[in-house]
Amino acid sequence: MADTETATKTSGDGETTSPLAVEEAKEQATAEGAPHPAQRAEVSNLEIVRHYFDKAADHMGLPDDVRVVFWTPYREVTVQIPVKTSDGKIHVFSGYRIQHNGARGPYKGGVRFHPEVDVDEVRALASLMTWKTAVANVPFGGAKGGVNCDPEKLTQGELQKVTRSFMDKIEKVLGPTRDIPAPDVNTNAQTMAWMMDEYGKLHGHTPSIVTGKPLSLEGSHGREAATGRGCVYMFREAAPSLGLSPADTKFVVQGYGNVGSWAARIMQQLGSTMIAVSDVHGAIRNDNGIDADALHKHIAGGNPITGFPECEEIPAEELIAVPCDVFIPAALGGMIHEGNAHQLQCKVLVEGANSPTTPVADQILRDNDTYIIPDVMANAGGVVVSYFEWVQNLQHFRWDEREVNDKLGNVMRKAYREVSSRAKEEGLDLREASYLVGIERVVDAARTRGYIEPPDAAN
Ligand code: NAD
Repeated sequence: MADTETATKTSGDGETTSPLAVEEAKEQATAEGAPHPAQRAEVSNLEIVRHYFDKAADHMGLPDDVRVVFWTPYREVTVQIPVKTSDGKIHVFSGYRIQHNGARGPYKGGVRFHPEVDVDEVRALASLMTWKTAVANVPFGGAKGGVNCDPEKLTQGELQKVTRSFMDKIEKVLGPTRDIPAPDVNTNAQTMAWMMDEYGKLHGHTPSIVTGKPLSLEGSHGREAATGRGCVYMFREAAPSLGLSPADTKFVVQGYGNVGSWAARIMQQLGSTMIAVSDVHGAIRNDNGIDADALHKHIAGGNPITGFPECEEIPAEELIAVPCDVFIPAALGGMIHEGNAHQLQCKVLVEGANSPTTPVADQILRDNDTYIIPDVMANAGGVVVSYFEWVQNLQHFRWDEREVNDKLGNVMRKAYREVSSRAKEEGLDLREASYLVGIERVVDAARTRGYIEPPDAAN
């Protein structure tokens, strides 16, 4: 682990390093000690989320005994998933479902399939969901799930086995009023269809058990595009005060999956131009513009991003240095770190991914006056439309796409305005203000329902 990034580490007993230590760490960062620009930071997603939580908790003077409640999840489930694959051998994967906090409603959060998934990563993502649902003000708590498999190495049949086995083993802690999974990295509407079907074998047809389902199985219009669309709505809110017009905006996308490709396609509809983009296989650049729709079709057709016509292939680590107005990280956590943050040449960072920016990188970007729309609000569009899907499922009713998108716009705009006015009032940046708003709402709900005692109720 890079020494400088460990400055943000939270110890087991909850002691945290101050923001000042982040400042010192940033000053001490050397090219030698920092991770390679194309790598993820050594600091974990859990350390990143804990750091931002503690910073906001310090600002609001949250007592230590209350903080402890939110440092740890409410419930953690780890399961074994043995699956026989085409090599004739049994492979044992680990699956996790972690429910961080349910004070504001049923637990809600995606399921990630990735070889690097581990319990700490899922803990981090679960707590981020708690703050995100609160910032968006949808009546859910926070959870996350994951399986440490590599979908690129599995057939569709094997993936289906992994998914069903995972659902079988965690279904006891799930339910439409308990915990409702959704897609995340390397999972999609098909994954949700298998999960719903497996749950239905035990409980009867229950569409509201997962969101992000296919339209043919009571999925919601607009859900697939919702996270990317939400990022664009957030950018549109911020643009006027930054002197940017979407029609003249040049943007770069890191990670061209669900979130990245939808954000790009919707930015393009507003007249913005994508000039560089990457995925796990490589990066490309064309200063005259890369057609986001055509690139999506190209990749969906099974072609490598690097073979996209009329683009220059660039080394993955150079993507971050491409000058642009808006940079959208939409891949994994920790991709903007002390080793590359100083190379970023954008005016606005719209965090489509979860925890893409380490605390040291965050400080570097703020010092460079980069306007950051943080993950906890920027990528909330997915969970907002998941909420709409759940509501539609409970009523066995369907809204049209326009209604969904209009309602999404209202929720995202409200969240942006609430957080940005709080930021102005208290002299904070958007990340600090969004955590502050989220933590306040969750603590208030936890106190009001009696899960933790109100301040004057001791004895
Ligand atoms: P996805 O699997 O559809 O796409 C991930 C993309 O990232 C792929 O294009 C992959 O090739 C790329 N990628 C992976 N490693 C990379 C690397 N080292 N460099 C460049 N690109 C790389 O996943 P997604 O659902 O789009 O999720 C992306 C991010 O957005 C994740 O951080 C996820 O937690 C977050 N997010 C997703 C949703 C959602 O609704 N899907 C909601 C909120 C946040």
